[in-house]
Amino acid sequence: MTNIGFIGLGNMGGPMAANLVKAGHNVMGFDLSEDARTAFESLGGTTATSAIEAVQNATIVITMLPAGKHVEAVYCGEGGLIAASKPDTLFLDSSTIDVDTARKVAKIATDSGRMMMDTPVSGGVAAAAAGTLTFMCGGSDEAFAKGKDILDIIGANIIHAGKSGSGQAAKICNNMMLGIQMISVCEAFAMADGLELERQKLFDISSAASGQCWSLTTYCPVPGPIATTPANNDYEPGFAVAMMLKDLRLAADAAESVGVNTAIGQKAKELYEAMSQAGLDGKDFSGYFEFMSQK
Ligand code: NAD
Repeated sequence: MTNIGFIGLGNMGGPMAANLVKAGHNVMGFDLSEDARTAFESLGGTTATSAIEAVQNATIVITMLPAGKHVEAVYCGEGGLIAASKPDTLFLDSSTIDVDTARKVAKIATDSGRMMMDTPVSGGVAAAAAGTLTFMCGGSDEAFAKGKDILDIIGANIIHAGKSGSGQAAKICNNMMLGIQMISVCEAFAMADGLELERQKLFDISSAASGQCWSLTTYCPVPGPIATTPANNDYEPGFAVAMMLKDLRLAADAAESVGVNTAIGQKAKELYEAMSQAGLDGKDFSGYFEFMSQK
């Protein structure tokens, strides 16, 4: 049994922490939101009155927070998790944040003698509840070896991406591909409609041809071919436009910081921004099909 501190018990963190409790670990959770704390308690979890209290006796601390500014504020400074934790603590930050902040916070942690990995995830709330997330880990071999057993409980694929920040790099590279691919599949179906090619036929053909990709074969953005996709449920998420936009903005900033021209990634960001401006932040990102069809 491991003593685990878990900060950020929201849509993702709540079910992840609950799965660790179910596996028999001693999890002390904390979230600023009383609702999130109550929900975790109702799943058998124990909550602390502060983030610091939640990590004081932990050997592993997992954080699942909205963005880089929250991560930096929670970890750093005199009142932060690093200063409050035991000297042999391993920190796993599963939030999706920018590479620079991930590296900055990890350096502060490692300079203090502790270990830290960025461990962002792929897979949404359903995968968090099912314990089937993919973890992309950035940190030392030693940190990966120490964290893997715990991540194995809440994930199906635990991959060591490389040094600190590499997990976040993998996450934004992957989600930039996803955002672009989804737009391309939506455009292809809209074109098929105009050309009087049946949607099911395009699905069958491209699923077995070179246009094949996850956005088509697993998450098809038009109603019909795959019964369980958001397209068959009024584009309820799933993976919301706001989340996709967050990741594409991180990707755009990262591309600029390393001087790489991601022209199509930028364009995809602009298209989801248009959806967001139309009030569709809370809809699934595959709803781009309906959005573009209505214009
Ligand atoms: P969420 O908003 O549901 O949860 C974040 C939680 O952090 C909230 O409950 C909030 O109260 C809490 N929080 C914020 N600041 C805090 C602080 N200082 N101390 C303690 N708690 C604090 O968000 P989520 O959907 O769980 O996403 C969390 C992270 O996971 C994000 O970085 C997101 O990009 C990433 N992610 C989300 C999904 C998804 O499908 N929801 C998928 C992959 C990755």
